[in-house]
Amino acid sequence: MRPINLADCQETKEFVIIGNGPSAITLSYLLAGNWPYYKPSEPHPNIELNARLTSPSDSETFSDQLDLSTIPLVKRDLQYLSNGLPGRSRNPVSILFDALQHPDADIGSDIPTALSWSFHPEKSVSHLVLGSGPPGGSWQKMKDCNNTLTISLGTWMQLPNLNIRQWSCDTKRESRVPLGRVAKYYRDYVKCQDLEKYFLNNSQVTRLEYNEDDALWKVSVMEEKVGHFTISTPRVVLATGVNEKPNKLGIKGESFPFVIKSLTEFEKVLSNLDRTVCNDPVLIVGAGLSAADAVITARFEGIPVYHAFRRHPDDPTLIFNQLPGNMYPEYHKVHQKMKGKSLSTDYKAFPMHCISEIRANRTVVLTNLIGAEYNGLGDSTRTTLQVSYILALIGRRANLDFIYPKRLRSQLLQHPTQPFHSRNNPIAINPFTHECLNVEKLYAMGPLVGDNFVRFVQGGALAIANHFWSSSPAPISPSSSSSEDSPDDP
Ligand SMILES: Cc1cc2nc3c(=O)[nH]c(=O)nc-3n(C[C@H](O)[C@H](O)[C@H](O)COP(=O)(O)OP(=O)(O)OC[C@H]3O[C@@H](n4cnc5c(N)ncnc54)[C@H](O)[C@@H]3O)c2cc1C
Repeated sequence: MRPINLADCQETKEFVIIGNGPSAITLSYLLAGNWPYYKPSEPHPNIELNARLTSPSDSETFSDQLDLSTIPLVKRDLQYLSNGLPGRSRNPVSILFDALQHPDADIGSDIPTALSWSFHPEKSVSHLVLGSGPPGGSWQKMKDCNNTLTISLGTWMQLPNLNIRQWSCDTKRESRVPLGRVAKYYRDYVKCQDLEKYFLNNSQVTRLEYNEDDALWKVSVMEEKVGHFTISTPRVVLATGVNEKPNKLGIKGESFPFVIKSLTEFEKVLSNLDRTVCNDPVLIVGAGLSAADAVITARFEGIPVYHAFRRHPDDPTLIFNQLPGNMYPEYHKVHQKMKGKSLSTDYKAFPMHCISEIRANRTVVLTNLIGAEYNGLGDSTRTTLQVSYILALIGRRANLDFIYPKRLRSQLLQHPTQPFHSRNNPIAINPFTHECLNVEKLYAMGPLVGDNFVRFVQGGALAIANHFWSSSPAPISPSSSSSEDSPDDP
């Protein structure tokens, strides 16, 4: 397959997708002409969903004789199909797609997908996928993490129509899989599904702006080899994820070089660390899975750990209280340590503490939040620690700074006066098309709209492709000579 070149990029495409992670890859697969169909031969265990899939909605104008299994989901009424489905996403099409890909997965079933896929090359929609690194998005930053396992089951990490177990020739049928393997699967997926021609990797979108004069979006790109160029397009999809910028501690001393903000950076530090010179404990800040991974890594390397976090270890919203111990033994062990139940000389937890000052001599001041709350005097218990490094793993956030005018960044959000937050303040979208509520022809998917698991990001791709096919009967296509309907169309 001929790799994409700059001339290809500069033709006007129907879509420009910003980001090249699982969200963008799935959308590219659908836009390339790969369409999902419901397989009524293996009826979905949800009887109501099966009934809706096999009989049209009031607004669907298919002939009565038509077998609905010949109608791809990109042309069905998604509002009707997703009505009332229970699931772990705020977005109904994400729940629908997941219910079809992994029927009854949340009650532990391993029922095969209810979807079959068919390739219609004549239906491919021209598009360009731009991503700052190799295909796979955030996962490429984890490509060397072969000892850390996914939180999700391996099969939940897969993208349409390429079984991850078959791809990896996995005979052991492991439940969770190493992060590095998932990164490789996404890179290979783009190759195996013949999507490379749509991907311009290692390219950073530096500016996105709507041009009223020609009613097109202008996307400014900095590509590693060719430098800067601009593309115009009628539709843009934001699939940039939420891992771009580390959250700030917001305290004095945060910018000292011994304050690090990612596990990858920590691993680099560890590989060069001279233990004879630097033997003080590392202070890990945060109570999420990345902080737990850091505790595991530090303990594995024999480095003593101080661990400070704001919440109580029994707080039900803490991720550890939501993961069954038998499936996640490594995180369960860290949680026990956080509770003070598994004592060791090399680990000390500071629950309900925040870090209030970092000094140049590598001393850190922790404040006990309980003290602050109870004595009501604004005075609280403070502890000063000597550390070698501070590893602040307190979450990351989206970077929408490439969007102009600046005010648009906040106008896109559900609550424009508050900062973006994947769960509490995502980008506001039409739930059935994923088009931004406040901006036409700008779409958003993945964690930007609150879908934080790969299982769910894929429904956004269906919503966007479905909107395209229901609103654009004659798209610009690389092979635009063949935009007539295929025999399976109603
Ligand atoms: C450590 C870790 C473990 C995880 N484990 C799991 C798990 O077990 N199961 C699960 O389902 N999910 C897991 N997730 C979440 C999962 O990674 C995300 O849900 C998923 O990657 C989201 O896909 P995406 O394509 O929307 O975004 P991303 O994968 O984040 O990809 C977006 C890409 O866009 C790029 N980008 C951003 N801005 C620009 C720009 N201006 N120009 C060009 N490119 C840009 C980013 O650099 C990034 O490469 C985990 C995440 C992390 C960090």
